[in-house]
Formats: sequence, C-alpha cells, structure tokens
Amino acid sequence: MRDRFKLFSCCIPVKGYLRSTLYDLQRKNYLFIPNSLFDILTNHTGKTFDEVLQLVDDDEREQVEKYLTYLLGKEFIFLCAKEDLECFPPLTPSWESSAEIDSVIIDINENSNYNYAIIANDISRLRSKVIQLRIFSIKGKQEIAGMINVFSKTDTKSLEVIFPNKEGVSVEFIKEIIDKNSRVTSLFIIDSPNKELSDYKQATVRYTADKITSESSCGIISKAYFDCHLNTYCESQNFNTCLNKKIAIDVNGIIKNCPSCAQSFGNIRNTPIRVAMEHPDFKKLWGISKDQIDVCKDCEFRHMCTDCRAYIKDPENIYSQPAKCTYNPYIAKWEDEEGYVSVEECGTYSREKGFIVDDKKVEALNMALWGA
Ligand code: SF4
Ligand code: SF4
Repeated sequence: MRDRFKLFSCCIPVKGYLRSTLYDLQRKNYLFIPNSLFDILTNHTGKTFDEVLQLVDDDEREQVEKYLTYLLGKEFIFLCAKEDLECFPPLTPSWESSAEIDSVIIDINENSNYNYAIIANDISRLRSKVIQLRIFSIKGKQEIAGMINVFSKTDTKSLEVIFPNKEGVSVEFIKEIIDKNSRVTSLFIIDSPNKELSDYKQATVRYTADKITSESSCGIISKAYFDCHLNTYCESQNFNTCLNKKIAIDVNGIIKNCPSCAQSFGNIRNTPIRVAMEHPDFKKLWGISKDQIDVCKDCEFRHMCTDCRAYIKDPENIYSQPAKCTYNPYIAKWEDEEGYVSVEECGTYSREKGFIVDDKKVEALNMALWGA
C-alpha cells in the first residue's frame, strides 16, 4: 500500500531562524514553510500522514494535514509503500569541478592598458567555463567589439559582457557582435534607458539605466540574484558561492580573487596567472561556506544566495555578513518591507563568538510583526 510520504530527492528543506524554505532544485523554485513543517519533513519522512498527525498537537493537526496535502498536490512529496522506502535515497550534495578555474572577471575602463590578447591566451589554458568582461568606460563601440572578439577566441563556454551604451551601440551593432562571436551568451548594456532588444540567438540581451562605473557596484544581495539550482546548492555546502574557483583582473591589471577584494597576487603585465594562483593565500576564500557566515547561517536563503566576501560588515572578520545584504532572517523581512528592523537591532556582534541573537527581543519583535 502506497501510504508513506517522502520528499522528492530534488526537494530540500532548509531551516532558517524564523521560517524555512523548501528548495525545488529541479524546477528552480522555492516555497516558504514554517519551521514546524521543516521538522516534520526531516524527522518523520517515511511515515503515513496519520502517523504524523498523531504526533502533533490537537490545535495544529488540521493545518499540518493541509500542508502535507498541498505538498503532495504540488509534487514536493510523494507516497510510496513501506517496502519501497529505501528505493529513494536522498540527494548527496557533493560538488566538484574538473576545471582549475570556473569563472574569470576582467574589469576594463578607459585607463586600462594591459594586453588583452596575452590575458586571453593565459585564460584559455585554464579552461574557465565563464568569462565576464565588465567594461565600465571606453572610447568607442569599435573598441568594445575588438575586446569581445579577443576573448571570444578563448575556449570558454560562456562570454558575458557588460558595457556602456556608447554612441552607435545600436540593435544592429549588438546583433553583429552576437553573430560574429558564438561564445557570447549575455550582453548587459549599462547607462541605457532604452530596451530595444531582448534575446537574440544564443545570447540574452539586457539593459539598465544604472550607471555602473566601477567594481564597487558589485556585491548586491537581492532576491533577483538567488539561484535555486542543484549546482549552487551543492557547491554552497562546502565552498564559497561567489569566489570558489574564480580569478579576476581589475582595471589596473591587478590579479585578485575578485576586483573588489583587497589582496593582490601580482600584476598581469609581469605575473602569469598560473604563478598568481600558486600564492598560498590565493584559494583561502574558496572554502568559506554560508554555514560559517554570521547571520547567513541562520538564513533560509543561504544555499541559493551569493556570498560576497569583498564587501562585509566587519572587514576584520572574514566570517561577517555581506555588507550589502538588506534581509533580516530573524524577522523574515527585507529592508523595503513594512516592519523591517536591521539585523544589528536583533543581537550583538562578537569577533570571537559571531553574531549573538537576542532571542527575547526577537521574540517580541516577531510577536508584534507576525503575532507569533
Ligand atoms: S565577492 Fe562580492 S564584490 Fe566580489 S565578485 Fe563576488 S559579489 Fe562581487
Ligand atoms: S542573510 Fe542575506 S546574505 Fe546571508 S544568506 Fe540571507 S539573504 Fe543571503
């Protein structure tokens, strides 16, 4: 008899301080669930609905039954026979990559004067999956086309380019870039109020009116950047979701973990990338996972969120929360939502012990906000 419930192996509950999320790594989506349901899904999988309902308080029974029925209808859980329970093992979230480097960021402005062809050649040997060219300012559109052409000759799978809307950056110009460079998968045109083209052939084309003039625009934490995906979920268990297997060259040619990081590993003019990578500190940020970060370790989004290590709340504490995060997981509110208070109002930071939550204060805040 098929009466035992199990989560589909791609559906994974992640517990936060106030609420949990149920990640659907196949459909790349997520659902908020109460922490009490997280406990049921993790501790009572393999039981019948009736067995679960016997375990909960009388006043919660109806609600729990509704939740389970909902999850069944939406195919987060399924029913199977007792003897088949072992046939559906949970996901083992291991992560590995055969490439030495998975992503490269190259920042360019009008003063950058390093040799792009040499860099492209150096990068090619690393077999990086993604190269991101971030062109903040430049003389003209032909220079943009020339750079894209140089990096398109590497064997990367994906060339993503951010560049400003210079005079002459027309729909025809954009189409020509994509036509000529099959590795271009994304063009992001900044300082551009017009949205003249969406996607074309293999590339997505996006526009923003924002003026992005330097690397300091990076590190934003936003729902829009969450990546509820198997690869991110698995990588985030043991690695940094932004800097793992990343290398960057800033506008001055300095080799770094990312252009916003402080530490230099040499200048591209006189340091081959491989030599920079041999520096003992080069990989030290790669293994910092979200479960080690103050506040993030209490956040239900931590396995789909980017982990910025360049802009952090306490520069002396590499485990402190991303500075540009505007979410407070202790009250489940974003800064632009009614009732938001900052994380700092919910506890105290300590370099030795991390963030210490003031549970009583948070309980009172949540009672006022949510009535619970
Ligand atoms: S560490 Fe932060 S600033 Fe650097 S690339 Fe990642 S998100 Fe951007
Ligand atoms: S607290 Fe902010 S930065 Fe940390 S995981 Fe949550 S949303 Fe991301």
